[in-house]
Amino acid sequence: MSRLLDLLYPPVCPGCGELPTGGGPLCERCRIGLEGLRSDGSFEELLRVRMPDFGLVVTPFEYAGPVRAMLLRVKHDGDRRAASCLAGELAQVLAESGVEADAVTAIPMSAEKRRIRGFNQAEVLGRYVAKGLGCSFEPGLLRHRGGVTFQHTLSREQRAAHAAETILFGGGRAAGRRIVVVDDICTTGASLLAAVRVLREAGAAEVVAAAVAYTGA
Ligand SMILES: [Zn+2]
Repeated sequence: MSRLLDLLYPPVCPGCGELPTGGGPLCERCRIGLEGLRSDGSFEELLRVRMPDFGLVVTPFEYAGPVRAMLLRVKHDGDRRAASCLAGELAQVLAESGVEADAVTAIPMSAEKRRIRGFNQAEVLGRYVAKGLGCSFEPGLLRHRGGVTFQHTLSREQRAAHAAETILFGGGRAAGRRIVVVDDICTTGASLLAAVRVLREAGAAEVVAAAVAYTGA
């Protein structure tokens, strides 16, 4: 049925809302735009220099153009096609970086924020990343304590303190496992670093931080 619907109403490109032109999920223009936003590794390097506690950090795209448009669709509408496209790219870069994971988890969202939005976009992405890596998706490994805070109103130091206070181990099995933590956007790295520390304290053998896109720093 969905195939028939695709024939009658071809799915639009999740990057621009226009018709796709190739066989892939993105139209030609957005596909080229996406390639132009690939990370040269300098943002990841900056994070590791600034916060040596980070192990491997993977953020494959700059937050701009079609990447930004798709992430906004995931954030506001839970857009599955945009999520599967971006998470598929993230999973591929993780695999190319030699990452082998036993589980994927996601940066948790406060209960209040989830109630307002209805879902956590990091979880929407994380589920597809797990699928791409062929491992289980376990969002329960992390939990969030606290209400709604608008991180962009906080300084870098405040963000780090806030993330450490609010991102906690949620339970389940972390000991001895290789875990990938997924977020949508990495700005200061505070949330991802807090999650990496929490999972390491819970005994994880290896924790890799992964975000679809980076901005700022
Ligand atoms: Zn497009």
